[in-house]
Amino acid sequence: MIRTLAFAALLSTAAVASAQAPPPAPVLVDPKVAALRDAALDDSYAWDIVEGLTTEVGQRLAGTEAEARARDWSVKKLRGLGFANVRVETFDLPVWTRGYESAEILAPFPQKMVVAALGNSASTGPAGISGEIVAFDSVDALRAAPDSAVRGRIVFIDHRMMPTQDGSSYGQFGAPRRQGPTIASQKGAIGIVIRSIGTDRHRNPHTGVMNFADGARPIPAGALSIPDAEQMARILKRGRPVSMRLVLVSQNIGRRQSGNVIAEVPGRDPRLAPVLVACHLDSWDLGTGAVDDGAGCGIVAAAAKRIMDAGRPLRSIRIVWFGAEEVGLFGGLDYRARHAKEPHYAIAESDFGADRIWKVDSKLGLARRPEAEAIAAALAPLGIVRGSYEEADGSDIGPMLADGIPGIGLNQDGIRYFDLHHSPDDTLDKIDPAQLRQNVAAWTAMLAVVSGGIEEPKRRRRR
Ligand code: ZN
Ligand code: ZN
Repeated sequence: MIRTLAFAALLSTAAVASAQAPPPAPVLVDPKVAALRDAALDDSYAWDIVEGLTTEVGQRLAGTEAEARARDWSVKKLRGLGFANVRVETFDLPVWTRGYESAEILAPFPQKMVVAALGNSASTGPAGISGEIVAFDSVDALRAAPDSAVRGRIVFIDHRMMPTQDGSSYGQFGAPRRQGPTIASQKGAIGIVIRSIGTDRHRNPHTGVMNFADGARPIPAGALSIPDAEQMARILKRGRPVSMRLVLVSQNIGRRQSGNVIAEVPGRDPRLAPVLVACHLDSWDLGTGAVDDGAGCGIVAAAAKRIMDAGRPLRSIRIVWFGAEEVGLFGGLDYRARHAKEPHYAIAESDFGADRIWKVDSKLGLARRPEAEAIAAALAPLGIVRGSYEEADGSDIGPMLADGIPGIGLNQDGIRYFDLHHSPDDTLDKIDPAQLRQNVAAWTAMLAVVSGGIEEPKRRRRR
């Protein structure tokens, strides 16, 4: 029965195809690559890693004792999985930590709101600050306002972010967080609250890093949950002066240590440049960093583990779990500075959650087009479309990609990502195990192609 149906489907496809121009010859997928890909759809390593990390460590704010525990956990885990050369490359960075925080409308309708400080916010001290709200619907509107409208007040930016599959809205809608505090400070504001950079409907604030530009005095800067930002907008619409009390206690605790955790699958030819697969180990402190980016660490290590267990790849695979990404790409920049003289065959990073991969991009150069085509062909049965041959991106690896190192981008569906991103809702239960496994299958197939062919291990003599 199944065979008859399949044959009928073939016939009808052939009939349609014959009426049109002949399709391009399909790129054949190496059966070994296909077998590794399909077996990875039953993967449990990625879940095991993200479940373990989020349960046994939890949040991992960069430069803190929690991130140090995450590194120890990771070293033990990666060694336990059988990877070679497991090590930590340390660096240090200035560290900001969160304390008590609260927000309330004082007038005209007194009520509490849910707020979280943005990374690097100035502290209000325990007494907090109080002031009148001046509202803007965008960073541009704030920029255009006369200083006299802002001075002595608390700025509110109500900038609505919409979800997109590719996450491209983050660049545009992240501006209130990245630039708003500096502009507000330069205009004399005593503080700023923004509508969270997120797309959910929960009473959860979304944090994230910002930096005051040189010369701008740090001021307290927080994000209101989206329902609270909408409440604020409704209150403002009543046309009466709105005042708020804001308590954002935080501390700059000086320079502390962070580090990149590195592990390898040694290739058959150690002279060849390695393939680097990455994620970031640190997280924001409100959730447990499951989708950002525990999942990414699980995905890339699971794929490398599956290759390692199948035999020896031609090229080495280097796993890097970067430290201190969230607070300024410190891990990526340290790795780049330290390994600048070593060639890399290709680099790729998983840092966009755990939902299914829908598109593959690559930037391997014209001479390596057949390899890019082979990757795309191997991923197609997972429902992954071919994107660009001229671009790839990644957070920690972004500066190295900009240096011209060849890269591959496995793009995850971003529709849900900013519901969770940097919020208390970034927890393990949001990960869909089936979609996580699709990620592992895609990364495994990509690595099977790029690592240059796997040789099954020679049978060892029993001791
Ligand atoms: Zn991330
Ligand atoms: Zn993040």
